[in-house]
Amino acid sequence: MTAVRPHVGVLALQGDFREHIAVLTSLGADAVAVRRPEELARVDGLVIPGGESSVMDKLSRTFGLAEPLKDAIAGGLPVYGTCAGLIMLADTVLDGIRGQQSLGGLDVAVRRNAFGSQLDSFETDLDIPALGDEPVHAVFIRAPIVESVGEKATALASVADGRVVAVEQGNLLGTSFHPEITGELRFHEYFLSKVRAAA
Ligand code: GLN
Repeated sequence: MTAVRPHVGVLALQGDFREHIAVLTSLGADAVAVRRPEELARVDGLVIPGGESSVMDKLSRTFGLAEPLKDAIAGGLPVYGTCAGLIMLADTVLDGIRGQQSLGGLDVAVRRNAFGSQLDSFETDLDIPALGDEPVHAVFIRAPIVESVGEKATALASVADGRVVAVEQGNLLGTSFHPEITGELRFHEYFLSKVRAAA
């Protein structure tokens, strides 16, 4: 019955994983927290939440999840990263802390905390044709930007000055902002359609 009620994990080492579990559950998924390799092995898709990417990086390595996560991404598991989660999915991280690593998968370079102190957190409406006519209300919290989009990845959304804030590549999806806290369901629906197609 996987195709009907996908079993979707949310990486729960740190950050706003509860909000993602709530959104995914409201959309009919069987959403569970993932903290161990055995839990990761059972899911049909994974969300990496917002939080602090340097901490998530350290915890994922400490708990033996970093390698299984990289293998799962390479094996085609659908993964959606928001904010810190997008940083975790980026092949290149700019302005990381010393020694910070990412899981990679998305052919992009992402700059952490890229909006500067005055714009630490802000909200704006984004036109995202891939998700329909209604604009997406986006909340940015010490958000990264996608500084460059490689050949394999596609930009889905940009802020007014053209900087890219949402990308996809095959089964991978990443946003600089946090749909899980605004009642915006379309990104999670879009992600679940990838999960259903892959399952
Ligand atoms: N600034 C955080 C980081 O570098 C991301 C913030 C967020 O996830 N809201 O990981």
